[in-house]
Amino acid sequence: MKKNSMKIITLGAGISGLSTAYWLNKDGFDITVLESKNEPGGSMETRHEEGFLVDYGPNSGLETVPLIRQIVDEIGLREEMIYANDKSDKRYILKNDKLYALPMSPMAFLKTKLFSSRAKLRLLAEPFIGKSKDGYYQSISEFVQRRLGREFLDYAINPFVAGVFAGDPSNLSVKSAFPKLYRLEELYGGLIKGMIKGARERKQSSEQSKQSAKMFSFKTGMQAFPNAIAEKIGDKIKYGCDVQQVVKDRNGYKVLYTHNNNTCEASTDIVLCAIPAYKAASIFGENDGELFKHLNEVYYPPVKVLYLGFKKEKIGRALDGFGFLIPEKENKKFLGAIWSSVIFPKRASDDTAAFTLFVGGARSPELLNCENEKLVHMVIEEFKSIMDIHDDPIFVKEKTWSKAIPQYTLGYIEHERYFEKFETMNQGLFLTGNYRGGISIGDCIKNSEMTYKKITAYTESLA
Ligand SMILES: Cc1cc2nc3c(=O)[nH]c(=O)nc-3n(C[C@H](O)[C@H](O)[C@H](O)COP(=O)(O)OP(=O)(O)OC[C@H]3O[C@@H](n4cnc5c(N)ncnc54)[C@H](O)[C@@H]3O)c2cc1C
Repeated sequence: MKKNSMKIITLGAGISGLSTAYWLNKDGFDITVLESKNEPGGSMETRHEEGFLVDYGPNSGLETVPLIRQIVDEIGLREEMIYANDKSDKRYILKNDKLYALPMSPMAFLKTKLFSSRAKLRLLAEPFIGKSKDGYYQSISEFVQRRLGREFLDYAINPFVAGVFAGDPSNLSVKSAFPKLYRLEELYGGLIKGMIKGARERKQSSEQSKQSAKMFSFKTGMQAFPNAIAEKIGDKIKYGCDVQQVVKDRNGYKVLYTHNNNTCEASTDIVLCAIPAYKAASIFGENDGELFKHLNEVYYPPVKVLYLGFKKEKIGRALDGFGFLIPEKENKKFLGAIWSSVIFPKRASDDTAAFTLFVGGARSPELLNCENEKLVHMVIEEFKSIMDIHDDPIFVKEKTWSKAIPQYTLGYIEHERYFEKFETMNQGLFLTGNYRGGISIGDCIKNSEMTYKKITAYTESLA
């Protein structure tokens, strides 16, 4: 079979589906993308409202692989790409209602009041702690407490996990959620040893660690990225197409979807499913109960994104960083706040500052069942007190993602193993998306190339 005679239908025009479809389209495959919404981007959603640029999903990405720059260049978005302001390097952690800068150098670590002397001394023991047996069933909490001690877990890793996954470290599998961290122990016998040796390896592979990768966005917000990829793919993307079912037939697959209240059908050789796991469950569930179970068990906690604008003159504390994260122990109603207008330009007018706050997540999903007005009020009051702000916000917008970010929980590996088995049993069917191989934008782009290679290898095997 020739490449351009192979038909591929991609389900979902989030960054995972779009970037994979982009490589396939560039390679001459006959592609169609079916997207249920009327715009591309999925979780990457930007709105321009009353002079504010609001990113309701990701506010930035990390340039961890050269592939990101490659795709940005190819889609003509280079001029639009922006990097985080140097001022935003500092990240704060809340402790006893005060913000402490997270130490970024050994000297700063020795000086910081964020950790007690005992906790600092405890770190010296890390290189002498033995390896663990199984990372897939070991929580991040267990791993970090064993290697680095309780205080480091509570005041560094617990808030960090909330910032990345909106997650709870006691439920996430260290090897599934942070494979690179676990690898340091597995390969080098410890984190400190591994960080030193791992830096050498990365230099050779031209990958950047998440700590050193540059943070990027776009002048008009994160959605500019999927928008530009979608523009390149053009009218091969069909919007308003809600896929209901995929069935195997003699010649490949039949995709059933609704469009403008009509039921439609399309035949294809290959299906690339790039929609969230819980949605994919209903689409494939009828054919395979086991797949339904695995897809449906991937936990996506709810997250409320609260976007606030304040007059700068009313803000008591210096805006000299990226924002702050809140350890669970501090008992607040939100997970942390990003100082959006400090990081990237034109997020608010010159005399205004914009902030993005996150509420709920796996730490406190129950909060989102509270009366909304009351919850928003409590969060704003807590935020004002931490930031020393003496006025009400002049701009408040919110969005609740009822299923926000997939959690790579303990035992998640069983799901991943079944997804692989399912793909082997169902030739021509591929599952992708942020519930496999990483949740960050960088990981989604990196995975798009791997999925593209898997698909081409499959088509070559048919030739
Ligand atoms: C609040 C929030 C903040 C985040 N912050 C960051 C950050 O700062 N940095 C970072 O790197 N990552 C961040 N992330 C994670 C990152 O945004 C996501 O992991 C990534 O965008 C997921 O892309 P995706 O294409 O896999 O899935 P999605 O974006 O969910 O895309 C799936 C697409 O499938 C479509 N779809 C669903 N069902 C159907 C159907 N039946 N038929 C057709 N189409 C369908 C959807 O409409 C959607 O467009 C954040 C996520 C959230 C929610």
